[in-house]
Amino acid sequence: MTFRTRFAPSPTGPLHLGHAYSALLAHDMAMSRNGRFLLRIEDIDQSRARPEWYSAIEDDLHWLGITWSGKVLRQSDRTATYSAALQTLWSRGLLYPCTCSRRDIEAAASAPQEGAPHHGPDGLIYPGTCRPNTPGGALRCPEDTPLRLDVRRALAAIEDEPLSFRETGSGPDGETGLITISGASLRDDVGDVVLRRRNMGTSYHLSVVLDDAAQGISHVVRGRDLFEATRIHVLLQRLLNLPTPTYHHHRLIRDETGKRLAKRDDARAIARYRAEGATPQDIRSMVDL
Ligand code: GLU
Repeated sequence: MTFRTRFAPSPTGPLHLGHAYSALLAHDMAMSRNGRFLLRIEDIDQSRARPEWYSAIEDDLHWLGITWSGKVLRQSDRTATYSAALQTLWSRGLLYPCTCSRRDIEAAASAPQEGAPHHGPDGLIYPGTCRPNTPGGALRCPEDTPLRLDVRRALAAIEDEPLSFRETGSGPDGETGLITISGASLRDDVGDVVLRRRNMGTSYHLSVVLDDAAQGISHVVRGRDLFEATRIHVLLQRLLNLPTPTYHHHRLIRDETGKRLAKRDDARAIARYRAEGATPQDIRSMVDL
């Protein structure tokens, strides 16, 4: 099998050292295996995407010595694909509309009968306020309202068949090799995640799964912070009949206080180092590559 990986930044700020590490590692892995490296711009959140970041990302990557195969895939061009997948899941009774605000969820999750509030990959585990007792009967998926995946029904739909993925890097607790995903962990530690966010037509989880399949990705190389979310991705792949790639979750680049770098860490922006005269080799050394 050809090794095909990708780098998938969001155009919401400058690339920083953490991005450089992820992109260089994925690119090195692809090159050493005679494989392919692809670029995808994750721009479903158009309220945060800025035109200048699209070209700045490509410019920084080229400067680092990274080249990609084929056309850059932009998620904002793929709304029809996301809608079709939502319609498929809706028709199978696996989605429900939910208009709860973050505050509603916090209030419901901290009600005394719920026990201690529990966090999953998307924040507080959804306490199920809008989950219907019986799936919606309408044939057409409602437009625009946020939609959640009914994890219990989703597990029933796959007949509780075991889910797993292969990890060649490691998770936060050193998880590696064949990772099995239990139904209980999906129900209790992930919960009913949002698959269509307000004004986005999709969500990170849904689009990443559809796009990895569309780009024929065999190996997903990305930060360890996304290890827990992989369970949702594997469930969605099973529901949508898509292949599960191999995953390689890598260490995170942190600042001197141990905090993970974020988009707002302009001080560690690649552009800043470039302006100060650093070379691509200096960047590699800074991230221990
Ligand atoms: N767009 C995501 C990020 O910038 C990457 C998601 C992924 O690699 O699956 O963190």
